Amino acid sequence: MSAVPREADFDRAPSLVDGAMSVELTPREANLRYWLEAVPQGMLAGRPDGHDPALVVPEFMREPGPLRDALIAEYAFRSVAEEKATRALSYLVPIAPDTETMEFFATQVLDEARHAMVFRDHLLALGVPTGRLWQVIEEYAGADVRAVLDPLEEFGLKIMRDDADFLGGVLLMTIVIEGALAPAAELSERKWRPLDPAAADIDRGAGIDEIRHLTVGAAIAKQYLAEHPEERRRAWELVARGMHMWTVLPVRELVMRREVLFQQGLEQHAGVVGDYEIWPGRRLVDTTPEERVATADEWTAEMKASRLAYIGLGETP
Ligand code: FE
Ligand code: FE
Repeated sequence: MSAVPREADFDRAPSLVDGAMSVELTPREANLRYWLEAVPQGMLAGRPDGHDPALVVPEFMREPGPLRDALIAEYAFRSVAEEKATRALSYLVPIAPDTETMEFFATQVLDEARHAMVFRDHLLALGVPTGRLWQVIEEYAGADVRAVLDPLEEFGLKIMRDDADFLGGVLLMTIVIEGALAPAAELSERKWRPLDPAAADIDRGAGIDEIRHLTVGAAIAKQYLAEHPEERRRAWELVARGMHMWTVLPVRELVMRREVLFQQGLEQHAGVVGDYEIWPGRRLVDTTPEERVATADEWTAEMKASRLAYIGLGETP
């Protein structure tokens, strides 16, 4: 009988978007002991690289072309994003208000460091030479990192490091940053599944971690606001300021550029994808970049509304 709870089980957990909206988990439940059994001894057992070692990258993914470029650009960017998240989030560990919350953020720091590692290492699996790894990351993602991630990081470090604002940091991670990125991560798992199953499994594992980060983060913010109702107005304003950043940063251009590359690769390898459905009733080969991005945007709006309502920030305080 496995000790791994359903929401953390590689084969039984819900999808990221569904899980983030249906699972309820508190830091009291998801403490260090829970994590040890559910993650290192559970989901990660036999998957040190984030996927079943028997899954090898197909040869066509290692050949130069738009499909490989799309995945390198995506994972280079996400690896840097995860590393920045690891470093920023570590500032919440010493200011967490109680031991359970402190333990939870310590595990999240390790989760994010692991995500950075598995995305980065998959670039090597795609044939990037070890000695050129950082150069390739810079070539494929450097400009996007500076345009999108650096401003978000600056915003986050001001809150978490400079102001030591615990509630602000939790809201920033749970609503503004991870909440907004989760749908893109789920889209990624679904679209890479038939083309690079190892990458899809890496996304799946990171998505399962994300269910925990989002639901526990929301539970922490909800409890904090219940105990400090005078902070609701400030919390709401901080979320609004953070969400505004997504409207001014060039995120849409970045996502579309990757989807256009993916589309070219998809057309070249349509035979491999066959009748695979990206979501029920819709074949991946029939989708367009615009449709995929629009679907992820719908998930984002849905998730944000449900999480804000759960935290108690559904209406303007
Ligand atoms: Fe992560
Ligand atoms: Fe996370």
